[in-house]
Amino acid sequence: MASLYLHIPFCEHKCIYCDFYSIENMSSMDHFLSALKLEIVRRAEMFSSQETIETIFFGGGTPSLLSAQQFEKIFSLIHKHFRIQTDAEITCESNPGTVELNKLNEFHTVGFNRISFGIQSFHEDDLKFLTRIHSAEEAERAVESAYHAGFDNVSCDLIFALPNQTPSRWKENLRRAIALQPKHISAYALIVEDQTPLATMVKNKLVTPMPDEEDAELYEMTIDTLRSNGYEQYEVSNFAKPGFYSRHNFNYWNHANYIGLGPSAHSFWKDSPTTGKRWWNVRSIQSYCEMLDRGDYPVVGGEEIDSDKFFNEEIFLGLRSKGIDLKKLYPLYGEDVFSMRQAMFLEMEQEGLLFRQNNIISLTSKGYAVCDEVAAKLIF
Ligand code: SF4
Repeated sequence: MASLYLHIPFCEHKCIYCDFYSIENMSSMDHFLSALKLEIVRRAEMFSSQETIETIFFGGGTPSLLSAQQFEKIFSLIHKHFRIQTDAEITCESNPGTVELNKLNEFHTVGFNRISFGIQSFHEDDLKFLTRIHSAEEAERAVESAYHAGFDNVSCDLIFALPNQTPSRWKENLRRAIALQPKHISAYALIVEDQTPLATMVKNKLVTPMPDEEDAELYEMTIDTLRSNGYEQYEVSNFAKPGFYSRHNFNYWNHANYIGLGPSAHSFWKDSPTTGKRWWNVRSIQSYCEMLDRGDYPVVGGEEIDSDKFFNEEIFLGLRSKGIDLKKLYPLYGEDVFSMRQAMFLEMEQEGLLFRQNNIISLTSKGYAVCDEVAAKLIF
């Protein structure tokens, strides 16, 4: 099983914290869509015979800026050139400020069965600080409209650890998200990414990032609140009602093959159970279109994943999601690699960071908060 990711690199407005590749000027939209279609066909020539596609994810950027008619053309090409599983999960990332009932009806009709809303906060001043284009009321209306349009599988993204965010304000965001009854909630801590307006504001002391202890307190509150409301944590930042894990994200964390299409998209393909390669597209719409127009792949970098690197990724990806599955890894790497780590496992188990059940080593809530540190101790 494999996944397709399509990056739609346009946004109505660039949010201050965002380092995903997207631009506000939409004059190159038509050229981009033509180039994307060329890339779909060329990549299908390489990969379509090898695997069935289990998930399709339109991310960005703001895919919901596209019309249903534009998606219809993309879907017909994808279905013509790839083998798509009949019950494939097909997601559209959406900005609540760009959709209303009519559009969501059309999105459902053209083939989407999952919608993920970038809500981020239900407080107007937070949304203003983050320079989001939507209001809290629009976010709530968008989710309700998605249900009316027939979407059962709705996800809401929230951001915590905003400067000066109090626990009660964050709790209120969680409460309002839960009240909308989405099947899936992603809760990310605000990260100050280099080269963003937020990074400049921090550098100029206009904004002070939340201290780590307060961030950890909000994260712990997130886990407790969502778990007590029936959401299972299946990754550091992702929570879902039973049966509603994002299959697309799950494939990433499970080392499944995926093909990324569009500027800045990344891809991964295994060439054996323990080796593979990763490559990425150019981060510029203009270059992306030019490269495809002249018959090239729009790829600007890549790396071979040898067996050692693959093993380390299994540890890291496993820890941050469903756990390290020893039954899967013993036959591939032998039991020795784990006996070397046994003392470390025990130590972290005693510290309450890990637990072992049915040969799966998983993080506890406390462990999730320090996932990177735990992984670093196990990777050598
Ligand atoms: S809408 Fe999303 S992708 Fe676009 S700038 Fe804001 S955070 Fe980034």
